[in-house]
Amino acid sequence: MSRYTDASCRLCRREGQKLFLKGDRCYSTKCAIEKRNFPPGQHGQGRKKVSDYGTQLREKQKTKRFYGLQETQFRNLFDKAARKKGITGENLLIMLETRLDNVVFRLGFASSRKEARQLVTHGHFQVNGKKVDIPSYEVKAGDVIKVKEKSTSSPKFKEIKDMTISVPSWLTVEVEKLEGKVVTLPTREDIDTPVAEHLIVELYSK
Ligand code: SF4
Repeated sequence: MSRYTDASCRLCRREGQKLFLKGDRCYSTKCAIEKRNFPPGQHGQGRKKVSDYGTQLREKQKTKRFYGLQETQFRNLFDKAARKKGITGENLLIMLETRLDNVVFRLGFASSRKEARQLVTHGHFQVNGKKVDIPSYEVKAGDVIKVKEKSTSSPKFKEIKDMTISVPSWLTVEVEKLEGKVVTLPTREDIDTPVAEHLIVELYSK
């Protein structure tokens, strides 16, 4: 599958806000949004008027980029969300939050979703005792996510054991054990990603 390989910071500048794609750098003064908060490119500072369609498109692009999905993956997830009972936009956000790579990030085992995806792909995690290396794996309430025994001695995870990590209310973490649990599925109120999901629904409903 193709993946975006250009500078991550350009994506934040395009969306005009931090998407937290680069871990620690995002919280430092080196963050490109702190220094150049305008769209990249020759006409970056010239684009002003945005149509309704443009607003909806940007919201979709922003959400997709926050969670690191490609267009096809995102569209498929949206279609799945639309087939579920309930409010499509909320379903979509909940499905994005419950991806394994996002949960690994939320548990503090990775500094960004991008890193989380890589760690999952490299097979460092188990869900309920079984290795899972699929970033899009959908976690369920009660699932236990744990760093694989063999990986616990790596410097990356040793470092985490000394950290204090705060997680959203739908998750719990035992840092010393490098283990987290999905206590319950998140509701819309639990998700702090700054997304106006109704704009995505409007865009895809055209
Ligand atoms: Fe975005 Fe992080 Fe780059 Fe800042 S440092 S622009 S938040 S990816």
